[in-house]
Amino acid sequence: MTKRVYNFYAGPATLPLQVLKKAQEQLLDFDNTGISLMEISHRSKQYDLVHKEASNLVRQLMGISNEYKIMWLQGGASSQFWMVPLNLKIEGKPMDYVNTGTWSKKAIKEAKYYGKVNVVASSEDKNFSYIPNNIIFSDDASYAHITGNNTIYGTEYHEWPNTSPDVPLVCDMSSNIMDKKIEANRFGIIYAGAQKNIGPAGVTLVIVREDLLDRVDENTPTMQKWKTHADKDSLFNTPPTWAIYICKLSLEYLKSIGGVSAIEKINRDKANILYDIIDKSDGFYKGHAKKDSRSLMNITFRLPTEELEQKCVSDAIDQGLIGLKGHRSVGGMRASIYNAMSKEGVKKLANFLIEFKEKNQ
Ligand SMILES: *Cc1c(COP(=O)(O)O)cnc(C)c1O
Repeated sequence: MTKRVYNFYAGPATLPLQVLKKAQEQLLDFDNTGISLMEISHRSKQYDLVHKEASNLVRQLMGISNEYKIMWLQGGASSQFWMVPLNLKIEGKPMDYVNTGTWSKKAIKEAKYYGKVNVVASSEDKNFSYIPNNIIFSDDASYAHITGNNTIYGTEYHEWPNTSPDVPLVCDMSSNIMDKKIEANRFGIIYAGAQKNIGPAGVTLVIVREDLLDRVDENTPTMQKWKTHADKDSLFNTPPTWAIYICKLSLEYLKSIGGVSAIEKINRDKANILYDIIDKSDGFYKGHAKKDSRSLMNITFRLPTEELEQKCVSDAIDQGLIGLKGHRSVGGMRASIYNAMSKEGVKKLANFLIEFKEKNQ
């Protein structure tokens, strides 16, 4: 058997073994074509089926209505940081943002190239350990932007803020797309780099309400307009076919295990297992996120000393538990337990943490 470790990296991240096996099986000969999917024209009938099915699965799994377009773009979630203001900004109307961490800040920085940005709420005062309550967006904003899950700090929105009907809510869901049921019609735009929760690096899922596609200035370079990609079903130019194919396999797998409501239950169980250990460790493990803001996807915590943190990360590697070193902005440890991380992997990590505490406290 191939050696497989439990991978807690924040992204690119673990994929379901079934998905990797299926891709391996079909690597040389895709559906009896005699060639690899990597070698097939993006205009071929075989690829077209893959492409359409990937988008249909997004629609079904997230409950996205026909008012929305589903796009597969390149340039990462980071390119959406500028594509959002470029495509949505209305002259004379500010752009509202909530600052909940590193990724929010990067989004804000890019929006400032396009006009006036209002940061209406921030959790920077406490090193981004919480999601602000009672967020109020202005009624005359071009749009309102939030970061659904803060990958580095381990915080996540559990309720979505309201916006007035004319102000579309824009959400960066790179690290929590499909981790739980959402009412998709609350959002104007949802975007997510695929490499954390739904696939490999190289493709970004962008879901846009159709009426918002017409805001962009006509004198904008073709590739920069969402409308170009939406009108051509993400086939204006060559899309990242292999990455979209792997997303399709992983979404198919998600559907086969019961879809988003089934994975939400599993995700809550997984997160509870680890938060329980933190809460019952008499302060040995200290969670970074405030309890009501805790992420289902990224569990961030510290140990009593940096030496112990380093030892914990390296002892974990010896047990086949990798990628647990925290981001430098928080320090300590971070367990990224995306949809594809099994409950077995989380239980193994839990047992390791319990033993580590007993030996080292
Ligand atoms: C990883 C991440 C990004 C950056 O994604 P790229 O695809 O690397 O540009 C943006 N936002 C969030 C919330 C992330 O977790």
